[in-house]
Amino acid sequence: MKLTIGHLYPDMLNLYGDHGNIRCMEKRLAWRGIQAETKQFLAGEKIDFSRLDVVLLGGGADREQELVCRYLKKQVQEFRDYVEDGGVVLAVCGGYQLLGNYYKTERTTIEGLGILDIDTECGKERLTGNIVLRSPLFVNPIVGFENHGGRTFIGNYPPLGTVVWGHGNCDSSGEEGILYKNVIGTYLHGPLLPKNPEVCDYLLEAALKRKYGGVQKLQRLTDELEHEANRYIVNLQNRRISKCLIL
Ligand code: GLN
Repeated sequence: MKLTIGHLYPDMLNLYGDHGNIRCMEKRLAWRGIQAETKQFLAGEKIDFSRLDVVLLGGGADREQELVCRYLKKQVQEFRDYVEDGGVVLAVCGGYQLLGNYYKTERTTIEGLGILDIDTECGKERLTGNIVLRSPLFVNPIVGFENHGGRTFIGNYPPLGTVVWGHGNCDSSGEEGILYKNVIGTYLHGPLLPKNPEVCDYLLEAALKRKYGGVQKLQRLTDELEHEANRYIVNLQNRRISKCLIL
């Protein structure tokens, strides 16, 4: 078995180690004896979505997002078809925002790809810090780091999780990220997947199922270091809460 991972615009969308998500997927596949090939697509290069099993769109600054959106618009129908066909996508922060209708910044409105019917508007302050979520899909909390000016309004889509600690989609909804078919959109950097191996395997299993059919259950790994990293963030936030209560 083999999965092909498309890393879109690594030169422009790569904040806070988002490319680590690729290394994590490659490693977790290799540990199960499954081949992984990563194809990088730089600005202006044609993306053949029909040959991809997983797509990663990382986060970026407003300027880069605008450029990336311009390139992707030329292939938006292929990208939409891939998503509707159950293609796996992990879109982080700026990448998440640009799947939506628009991102209104302080100076302009960046028209998004409109693959998801969601809107993002820049708020007064940036939403920054560690973040902890709970999702019914996963046993362990999802942890990460967020730093975004945009507030994303997801309407009736299910979120990736509910916020235990941090800001999430728009600070007030108590929700973070989005789930649509096999797309996960999220504000979580860090990178996301190494500290959240369950999320990584969820995406890989979805990609394997789409490609090979049947129920694809990956062999479990011990993930001691991964769980330790996850717990570190959760405990860090718990200590902060109890410190505030004591003061
Ligand atoms: N430029 C976007 C924002 O500030 C996304 C930032 C990011 O990807 N971290 O909201």
